[in-house]
Formats: sequence, structure tokens, C-alpha cells
Amino acid sequence: MDEKEWRVKLLSGKRNGYDVLPAGERAPMHDYCEAYKAFMNKAKTERECAREGVRLAEERGFKPYVPGMALSPGDRVYHSNRGKMLLLAVIGQKSLAEGLQMVAAHIDSPRLDLKPSPLYEDGELAYLKTHYYGGIRKYQWVTIPLELHGVVVMKDGAVIPVVIGEGDEPKLYISDLLPHLAQEQNKKSLADGIAGEQLNLLFASEPLEGEGQERVKLAAMKLLYEKYGFTEDDFISAELEAVPAFRATDIGFDRSMIGAYAQDDRACAYAALKALLDLEGVPSKTAVCVLADKEEIGSTGVTGMMTKDFDKFLEDLCETEGVSLRSCLEKSFCLSADVSMAFDPNFPDVYDRRNSAYLNYGVGLAKYTGSRGKGGASDASAETVAYVRRIFDENGVLWQMCELGKVDAGGGGTVACYMADRNIDTLDAGVPLLSMHAPFEVSAKLDCYMTYKAMRAVYQN
Ligand code: MN
Ligand code: MN
Repeated sequence: MDEKEWRVKLLSGKRNGYDVLPAGERAPMHDYCEAYKAFMNKAKTERECAREGVRLAEERGFKPYVPGMALSPGDRVYHSNRGKMLLLAVIGQKSLAEGLQMVAAHIDSPRLDLKPSPLYEDGELAYLKTHYYGGIRKYQWVTIPLELHGVVVMKDGAVIPVVIGEGDEPKLYISDLLPHLAQEQNKKSLADGIAGEQLNLLFASEPLEGEGQERVKLAAMKLLYEKYGFTEDDFISAELEAVPAFRATDIGFDRSMIGAYAQDDRACAYAALKALLDLEGVPSKTAVCVLADKEEIGSTGVTGMMTKDFDKFLEDLCETEGVSLRSCLEKSFCLSADVSMAFDPNFPDVYDRRNSAYLNYGVGLAKYTGSRGKGGASDASAETVAYVRRIFDENGVLWQMCELGKVDAGGGGTVACYMADRNIDTLDAGVPLLSMHAPFEVSAKLDCYMTYKAMRAVYQN
């Protein structure tokens, strides 16, 4: 190894992607990012992501999976778990006894869910009470336009889809104090400045004609009934989510970045989905894309990554081939595709610059996540990291190593530990973001595109 080679080896994996991006990649990167933004504008909740995922998959020849159905190499199937979690597979040439090549991302994102009894009137204004979902910084969710997406399910099982605020439709809003009267509030910490019970959505202000109490609330309920056909009681069996009313858009004068709500984790979920849909020919091993719900609240619940529905789907596939699930899993690999945080020069104190992800340096690989000494992390083996380095290098994927901030600055988790629990070698990888979990997050186009290429490499190996 001569001096020059030694230096190049040392720096590999930490280079600004634009310095090494082949000219021919510019156009595919642009097209990919335009399609990603369009997806983000269509899919603002986990249900909408799953539905859009099914639509795109069916366009590309995927069929609903029925347990026991005969499958041959190249077949494309999907399974929707209750419309909130999506599993897709392209059957490979090799037996399932050789394992699966998997990418698992999540499609739920931080938001404000309506409470079961949300509607009330105060000061002759109608409001909807919320209970936030996932880790949010509450002060970021006031004084921005919000939309309401979700479903109301009637006692007879009829599902009423609700979307308020799309396009030119009216938006909802949460107020904050004016600076003139914020003297006391300003003394509070950022965490306490806005309390959870203050996250009340301004819903209506025009009273119902005539006399009586709570005429604004009644007028709002009447409007809801006329438009959707449900009454106040039916809020009890509803899932209505307030999400930011921002469209995905280019950021930066050079258009090199993307701003959007819920890039955690749809930047990775879209990449995982698109890479599978774009697979050409028959992969060597069966390729599986998992788009899970409930990651932001701990991967719990029937649609979260701990669900037995995932194991059932794989077990059903294995049974068809007469292979045991446990021997399939022990030979499988999973890329736990979740966003990481990009180095933010505005807040340098929370990062270790030498082990941080940077915008435009490609998909970020994290050997471990966790907090307080890697607590809760799956901490991938050196062998697993070596395997991923190799396949990314062989497939022209720009990547960088990173960890979630400085030691003891905080931390976080992903679905990686739940995949590793199943005896699947798993590594975290994803798009580095600025302002993760904010109502509007920023990614770099190059990193989004490289994450897509990274997932394609996983499926094809
Ligand atoms: Mn995430
Ligand atoms: Mn998150």
C-alpha cells in the first residue's frame, strides 16, 4: 500500500458527495427527488402512506398476498396490515432457507392526534383538543397552518375518510401569545413554554343562528354532519391527526435540499418502497420492504414493528416453500432505514464532529443508536457493518458513518432492535436531517437519492 492509497483509504466514506457524484447521476437524482416530493404531498399520515404504497405497488404489478398462494421467482406481492403497515416482497431465485434481504422503515410521524372527546367551545370559539403523538417540541407546533387527516369509524363499521385543509381548503391553527404579553411565558423553558393541554386546534368561530349555549360548537358540529355524516359521539371511534399544512418544497437558492413534514421517516420509507418497485429482473434472494407504523411511540401495537403480523407474513411465505421461519431469519439481513441527524452548524455543541453525519455526504450508517451508553441499541456487529460497506461500495452508494449526537447529549432508537431480536443481522442507515421531528424538516437531495441506491443494493445482494 503506497502513501496515496493509504490516505484515500483513510478518508473513504467521508467525502462531500458532490465531489464524487458522476455527471450521469444528476438527472436520475432530480427525477427521484421530484417523485419523492409528490409522494410527500399525497401521503401525510401512516394510512395515506400505506394506501399510496399499495397504489404504486399495484401499478408495478404487485398483487395482494394470500397465504398458501403458489409463488415463483420474480413474483411481486404485498400485504397491508390493517391499512397502516405495509409489507412487500419480490420473490428471489434462491430458497427462503437462504434468507431474505430486507429494508424496514416507518411511516408514522410526530403529529397531534385528536382526543376521543375533542370538540368544545370557549370564549365563543370552537376548539379541538389534541394529544401529541411521538416526540415533539411543543412550541414548534403553534402559529403554523395545520390540516386534519384521518378516519371516523361508525358503529356499523363504515369508515368515513376525513381530510380538512388540503389545497385551498381552510386550515386549522393553534395560537400563541403576542410578545407584548409574553413576559411571564418568556421566563419558562422551551419545554414548558407551551403545555400539552394548550395544543388546542382553533376550529370555528361562527355561531349557529338563534339563542342558546355553545352556538359556535353546535354550528361546527352541524357543518361536520353535513359534510361527513357523523355526530359528536362518533369522535370516540375516530383517528384524526393534525399535521402541518406545508407542501414539500426545494430548500436553498441552489435547490440542493428538500423541506417537508414527516421526512422522519418517509425519506427512508419512500426510498425503501421505490427501490423495491424499481427492482429489475429477479433478485437472488427474496427482497422484502417493511413500512411499519408506531415507531415514534415505541414500535408497539398491532401495526408496530413488534407485531406478530410481520412474523406471520414471513412464516406464511416460508411455509409455502416448506422452510422453517427460524432458519430463514437467521440467514436474513435487514437495513433498519431511519433518518439520522445531520451536523447543524447553528448547534455544534450537541455533535461530535468526527462522528456526525453531514448533509451531502450520502446515506448515514449508524452501528448503534440508543442513549446513556448505547442503552436500547441493537449495536450491529463489525461483520454486519463490513458487509454493508462492501455492498454499498460495490454499487456506487455514497455513504458515511454517523452516530446520534454527542455521548450523553441525548439519543434515540429505531426499529433495529426489534429486527435484531428476531435473529436478523441488522444495521441502521438513513437520510441525515436538519430539525428532525419539527413540523418542517430538511434533507439534502443527494442523501435522499443515495439512500434509494443503498436500498436497491440491499435488495439485489
Ligand atoms: Mn424515525
Ligand atoms: Mn422519529
